[in-house]
Amino acid sequence: MSKKSIRRKLVVGNWKMHGGIVWNKALLEGLTAGVRELRGADYAVCVPYPYLFQAQAILQGTNLAWGAQNLCAIEKGALTGEVAPHMLTDFGCTYVIIGHSERRHLFHETDDSAAVRFYAAIKAGMTPIFCIGESADERESDWTEFVVGRQLDSVLRRYGVQALTNAVLAYEPLWAIGTGNTATPEQAQEVHAFIRNRVAKCDSEVAAGLRILYGGSAKAANAAQLFAMPDVDGGLIGGASLEANEFVAICRAAN
Ligand code: PEP
Repeated sequence: MSKKSIRRKLVVGNWKMHGGIVWNKALLEGLTAGVRELRGADYAVCVPYPYLFQAQAILQGTNLAWGAQNLCAIEKGALTGEVAPHMLTDFGCTYVIIGHSERRHLFHETDDSAAVRFYAAIKAGMTPIFCIGESADERESDWTEFVVGRQLDSVLRRYGVQALTNAVLAYEPLWAIGTGNTATPEQAQEVHAFIRNRVAKCDSEVAAGLRILYGGSAKAANAAQLFAMPDVDGGLIGGASLEANEFVAICRAAN
C-alpha cells in the first residue's frame, strides 16, 4: 500500500455566517440522506456556534461529522463573546476551522494567535482544520511559498511537527475564496506538494499521513479534477456547502 492510499479524503462544509433553525434542518437532513451510503471518505460541516446543539441532535449517529469555525484558546474567564474549546466538545465537535482568511483579514487574527488556537483545539481533543493561503497580490509577486511557508511554520516552530498528526491543513488561496476563480488542479497540486514537502523535511511519516484540503470556489463541477491530484486530500467548501445536492455531489467526488 502506498503512503498516499492511507489518506482518506475529507470534505468539510464551511457554512460561515449562514443558517437559521428551519433552513439548517432541511439542509442537514438533505445532507445526511445524500451521504448515508458513502463509505469511502469522511464528511463534515462546520456551522455557526448557536447551531451546534441542533447539528449534534440531527447528525449524531450519521456519517456526517460536525464542528465549529473558530474557538478561543483560553478555557474560561472574563472574555465577553468568546467560546472556549470545552464548550465545543460539549456539543460533540470533531473539527474546528482555525485561521480562516476571513478571520485573519477581517478580524485581524495573526499567525501567532492562529497557532495558539490550533494547539488549543488539539489539547481539547478536536481536529483543527488550519487554513493557510496567499492573496492575489502575493501570488503575483511570487510570494506564495513564502506566505504559506510562514503560516505553516507558525505552528511547526511552536508545537513541533508531531502536532500535525492530529490536524488537517486547508490550502485556501484568498483570490479563490468566494470569487468563482477556482485554482486549477495543477495550481492547487503545486502548493499542496510544497506544503507536504515542507512538513516532510521535519518528519516524512507525518507528511505522508497529513490531509491537505483545497478550498476556494470548489464545487461539484470541479471537485473530481481537484481531488484527483495526488496531494489534494479533499476540500473545504464554502458557498457550495449551502446547497444539499451540490455538497453531496462534492462528497461523491471524494468517495
Ligand atoms: C471558504 O471560505 O472556506 C471557502 C472555501 O469558500 P468558497 O468555497 O465559497 O470559495
